[in-house]
Amino acid sequence: KSLMKLHEIYKSFGDNAVLKGASLELSEGEIVAIIGGNGAGKSTLMKILMGIYPLDRGEIFIEGEKVNMNSPSVALEKGIYLVPQEPLLFPNMTVEENVVIGFNENKNVLSGKLRELIKQLGWDISLSRKAATLSIAEQQLVEILRGLLREAKILILDEPTSTLTFNEIQSFFELMMDLKKKGIGMLYITHRLTEVFEVASHVVILRDGEITVSGPVANFTKEMLIKGLMPDNMVHAKT
Ligand code: ADP
Ligand code: MG
Ligand code: MG
Repeated sequence: KSLMKLHEIYKSFGDNAVLKGASLELSEGEIVAIIGGNGAGKSTLMKILMGIYPLDRGEIFIEGEKVNMNSPSVALEKGIYLVPQEPLLFPNMTVEENVVIGFNENKNVLSGKLRELIKQLGWDISLSRKAATLSIAEQQLVEILRGLLREAKILILDEPTSTLTFNEIQSFFELMMDLKKKGIGMLYITHRLTEVFEVASHVVILRDGEITVSGPVANFTKEMLIKGLMPDNMVHAKT
């Protein structure tokens, strides 16, 4: 089942045309890896999906329905949650306080839901710990809990492992596999090609404002992806 579809997205900042007809699809329980050079527009595309930046042209469909994604609250309502590269927690608040902040629901109901969620995931996380005492990996887990408690169906993970240790990355990937089994779709931005083969089911390359390569991960080798990422002028320079 299709969770999300970005169709021919265009976006310029002044005369800098960043996205020039980028299209992308995400299905239930699928992890799509998005790779591309620095400044390719990966984060911009995700911010458009999250309603942070308005698009110039193009369409966004959520579960088949066209959505005018004109603010982050619309995106949240549609079940989209962006886990930021740098977690934004209140250091003097507990894990639980950080997760439930911003909800209008009854605190006891929320607290129950949160405990149920953690039990389901089998996480060993103390809700009463102060955020200031958490590792970055743990802070990222808190961000993910925020998204899941909001019943996000689509998680956007923007380079989530860049600050994690090897062990933390392995447990992060296990969590992603659990979420995948629950049907959650993930857009996974990374600079590390090995991660594409470890976690993703589908891979796309964003280049020159468009998706130039797209397909099941099994159809690619690392060399093919490296070649797809190489700028044209580098190829020409060699000949
Ligand atoms: P990536 O995440 O692929 O590294 P970004 O989406 O962050 O790339 O950036 C793509 C391009 O868009 C860059 O040239 C960047 O300078 C530009 N850009 C991103 N956000 C803004 C903004 N708010 N204002 C102006 N230019 C921006
Ligand atoms: Mg970048
Ligand atoms: Mg980025």
